[in-house]
Amino acid sequence: MSQKQTILKLDQLNKHYPVRGGLLKRVKNHVYAVNDISIDVDEGDSVGIVGESGCGKSTLGRTILRLEEPTSGEVWFKGENITHLNEKKLKQFKNDMQMIFQDPFASLDPRQRVGDTLEEPFVIHTNLTKKERKEKAIDLLNQVGLSETHYYKYPHQFSGGQRQRIGIARAIALNPEMIVCDEAVSALDVSVQAQVIQLLKDLQEEYDLTYLFISHDLGVVRHFCNKVLVMYLGHMVEWAPADELFDNPIHPYTEALLSAIPRPIPGRERNNIQLEGDLPSPTEPPTGCPFHTRCPLATNLCKEEKPEWKEISENHFVACHVKA
Ligand code: SF4
Repeated sequence: MSQKQTILKLDQLNKHYPVRGGLLKRVKNHVYAVNDISIDVDEGDSVGIVGESGCGKSTLGRTILRLEEPTSGEVWFKGENITHLNEKKLKQFKNDMQMIFQDPFASLDPRQRVGDTLEEPFVIHTNLTKKERKEKAIDLLNQVGLSETHYYKYPHQFSGGQRQRIGIARAIALNPEMIVCDEAVSALDVSVQAQVIQLLKDLQEEYDLTYLFISHDLGVVRHFCNKVLVMYLGHMVEWAPADELFDNPIHPYTEALLSAIPRPIPGRERNNIQLEGDLPSPTEPPTGCPFHTRCPLATNLCKEEKPEWKEISENHFVACHVKA
């Protein structure tokens, strides 16, 4: 079997937003949204990025795609450092990296037919004729389980599941290699969710796609992903193959997240761990371990020193003074 290649490498990636105040609008503070993220993603991986709302997972996705400028650190894609590429040079990479949103139609003109929407990438990036673009758009509709009749319809004429299929069709139009799915199935009913996930899997098999699957739903992540990154307050706290993470979670935050899954994981004893308090503000992150203000195992060391990122078994990494 051929060795999988690394398609995406994040090296100490940070995204901090300045908070300005006062008459002169001086920088008073920062929102520390993404902090020191370093992972390698292989071709064909489906990487779940999980954590509570506000943990920085969506900002991470947007920073990887350069929809947000990184504050520091590096993003490597297909062996190239794309962190500081200008718009012109970045364009070819942007075609290879697409995004699917929770509601892809939220930003669309309700007066535009779906066919025109699907043709847009071909208008911008190719020299195809109108007839060829239409054929491509209809082909995309067929690939996502819709048909030519949908070409002529408007956004309001679609159900949530169909809209997400159109979002997927748009994302795959230019044959990308990696897709960031940002809560892509969260708004769908469970049965529709299963269909859309199956569609994503089928497309992955057909086109050898790599997914970054941002989600707060660990049940879906377990079903869909082969690797999982757990984030807390913009930091990595655990990173492991999905089976390993779900069978043997180490970090107290991961344990708490898993214990809150509404649909229990078969074969895993349910150990309900209630997290105390709210997620701290990312403008005033705690000292030491970012999780110490809510961790039932916190010690004095946890308040003072950030835990090291340790590999505790093959490809299973954790940041915790007590458990690793
Ligand atoms: Fe809890 Fe300390 Fe581990 Fe942080 S380092 S997760 S506070 S035990």
